Amino acid sequence: MKSIFLLILLSIYFINCKLPFFNLIKTKKGISEEKKITYVYGHINPDTDTISSAIILCDYLQQKYPQKIFIPGRLGEINKETEYALNYFKFNVPKLITDPVEADEVILVDHNNPTQSIKFDKANIIGLIDHHAITGFYTNNPINIITKPIGCTATILYELYNNNNITISEGIGGLIISAIISDTLLLKSAVTTQEDIDAVENLSSYFDINYKTFGLELLKRGTDVSDLTEEKIINLDSKSYKVNGYDIQIAFLNMIEVDSFLKDRKEKLLVEINKFVKDNKKQLFTLVIVDIINLDSTVLAEGQYIDVLEKAFNVTVVDNQVFLKGITSRKKEVYPKLAEEFEILPEYEDEDGGKNNSNNIKFNFMLLFILLILI
Ligand code: MN
Ligand code: MN
Repeated sequence: MKSIFLLILLSIYFINCKLPFFNLIKTKKGISEEKKITYVYGHINPDTDTISSAIILCDYLQQKYPQKIFIPGRLGEINKETEYALNYFKFNVPKLITDPVEADEVILVDHNNPTQSIKFDKANIIGLIDHHAITGFYTNNPINIITKPIGCTATILYELYNNNNITISEGIGGLIISAIISDTLLLKSAVTTQEDIDAVENLSSYFDINYKTFGLELLKRGTDVSDLTEEKIINLDSKSYKVNGYDIQIAFLNMIEVDSFLKDRKEKLLVEINKFVKDNKKQLFTLVIVDIINLDSTVLAEGQYIDVLEKAFNVTVVDNQVFLKGITSRKKEVYPKLAEEFEILPEYEDEDGGKNNSNNIKFNFMLLFILLILI
């Protein structure tokens, strides 16, 4: 009996040493312990640059550091424009990230403002590649940062591939073109630089892509909001900023026929905007509707500080609406001009701030009182 038991034990030992199945389990465990997982993602309310740049940077890093694992992520639903680009160049929708702490490391693209990200303080951020102003960004550790004042994050990535002799596949080339077209409105918006133009022209001639035809179709897809609710529309491409204590929200929307769109939906849009302002205690909300053919914009504005918008652009808002000639960029035109005006106002103090404070004091006194009774 004893010897049979010993024989079984011995055979298990030998099987374990020889059989590939058992070895596979062993090696797999070894790899997962060695390989670090890095998430790469852009801002909430993702746009085509944010989604594409996450995928593009992962492709670049994976070629450069094959021993690591890079996973592109997104912090929300993709829009129709991005969906069109991903389908066209055959990429999967990136993984929805709800907790960056699951990754060993995080690299941010296309944003650096904590209000446009998630769990900023908890994520182990090791890198940032961006083309926005640096606003309210700090880290616990030293990190790699590449920022350039150009039209698109993907343009910075295009230059990284070239400078480091990393191969650009046709799909990646197509995503770079898509991201630049989206961020620069087909190379026509004020943010466009020579670097963006060079990247699109070089890639489209190399891969034989007619970027003008493709680009117009791409942008048109983004303007189709017929099946979206007003609540969805105002959150589609919306960013929040804190300036001098003021909480402002700047949403953007690309459109082709602005007048007929507003005729149909302005009233309901204003109801939603009003609700958003109240629920989120915003001092100003602007929905900037960009006419992508004529490159002007019409703004719907709500909040206590509409006059700041009027001062910033020297215009008069009538019925919560105003036309801004030649304005198409949040980053280069709308945000900086609004921020400049908010900066010269006295610092904003939350109306509830004082109340909360006195409530806190009352509560502390009550605690002290109870403690004294107990003693
Ligand atoms: Mn973006
Ligand atoms: Mn961008």
